[in-house]
Amino acid sequence: MPVEDYAEIREAITRLCADFPAQYWRECDNNRAYPAQFVTALTEAGWLAALIPEAYGGSGLPLSAGAAILEEIHKAGANAAACHAQMYTMGTLLRHGSEQQKQKYLPGIADGSLRLQAFGVTEPTSGSDTGALRTTAKPDNEHYIINGQKLWTSRAEHSDLMLLLARTSPLTNQMKKTHGLSVLLVDMREAMGNGLTIRPIKTMMNHSTTEVFFDNVRVPAANLIGDEGKGFRYILSGMNAERILIAAECIGDAKWLIEKTAGYAKERSVFNRPIGRNQGIQFPLARCYANMRAAELMVAESLRLYEAGENPGAEANMAKMLAADASNEAANVALQTFGGFGFAEEYDIERKFRETRLYQVAPVSTNLILSYSSEHVLGLPRSY
Ligand SMILES: Cc1cc2nc3c(=O)[nH]c(=O)nc-3n(C[C@H](O)[C@H](O)[C@H](O)COP(=O)(O)OP(=O)(O)OC[C@H]3O[C@@H](n4cnc5c(N)ncnc54)[C@H](O)[C@@H]3O)c2cc1C
Repeated sequence: MPVEDYAEIREAITRLCADFPAQYWRECDNNRAYPAQFVTALTEAGWLAALIPEAYGGSGLPLSAGAAILEEIHKAGANAAACHAQMYTMGTLLRHGSEQQKQKYLPGIADGSLRLQAFGVTEPTSGSDTGALRTTAKPDNEHYIINGQKLWTSRAEHSDLMLLLARTSPLTNQMKKTHGLSVLLVDMREAMGNGLTIRPIKTMMNHSTTEVFFDNVRVPAANLIGDEGKGFRYILSGMNAERILIAAECIGDAKWLIEKTAGYAKERSVFNRPIGRNQGIQFPLARCYANMRAAELMVAESLRLYEAGENPGAEANMAKMLAADASNEAANVALQTFGGFGFAEEYDIERKFRETRLYQVAPVSTNLILSYSSEHVLGLPRSY
């Protein structure tokens, strides 16, 4: 069964995004400002709670609905990076949290009074090698004491809660690196001023990312998600959803870029004819379109498998890689087609070029996806 198209949801998102035109995104970008009004509008309309079960105040929609929402936001030229994490970080709490934790947090996340936007996994020295992370969470009576540093913790300044991966058992020679890690829900409102410091990092696009320092931050033991030491497995179980949702955003970016570029190529006249009449302009764009459509099919296939209860690690990774390649290529072709105007901020091409480039690296870099496929699909020896 193919996944549903969600035509009504797509229309509603398009309408909502119309209230946030290009000028809004340009200003946010210029000021490196968090698009707070946009996130509030999405929250108030209930879209960020789409995947939260109805029992906890959400809409209980499947992942494909989340993908449709995020794709449509990007297809409108907007950027969901300010809030997309809530859709996948919430899944870790939902799948592995206790009933008490779900009752305590999910209704607030669903109605927007609580924000779970921050996801603290990456560290300066571990990078893609998550098992090598050094942040520790030491049990102390009814608490864990957190010490260490996270890097690229996006939206930390605009979130109440952070899903944190930290080491609860020291790494020994006998142990797999990914063992002994645990997931904790950190209430940053309590931790700020009590050992938690957040420092913004300026990046080439507007992303509200930060580095976060933990200096003896006390987190109640009741905030441990699932079993101690099994955190890596819990994070891993949410990664398929994360990859698929990001892929959907890249498809949206590619659609926006291709449409804008085709429109410009029809209108821009040089040598007394539209530049779009030249095959040197047409062919790269037609190839972008074909690649975007192929990537879109892989996104649909990964959603189909995900919703059939399978574990589509290979398809989710490939969908993310192909969609990120499609949007990256579309951005490059757009910049070339717009000529000098592509570099001017008022055309929004250079902004999208910067924004979509991120997905070659985050949340997982292309090389790591290729390594995954080499090892787990093709059966080649692990390279690292
Ligand atoms: C804007 C932004 C936002 C982010 N938001 C978050 C967030 O909210 N939460 C979070 O936890 N993280 C976040 N990240 C981190 C992101 O997930 C990492 O940047 C990404 O996983 C790559 O890790 P790294 O930057 O340390 O690169 P490294 O691991 O240092 O890798 C550098 C390069 O080497 C390559 N490489 C490394 N090892 C191998 C290998 N074995 N084989 C082949 N190539 C290899 C990589 O592919 C990459 O190209 C964000 C990053 C950015 C830039």
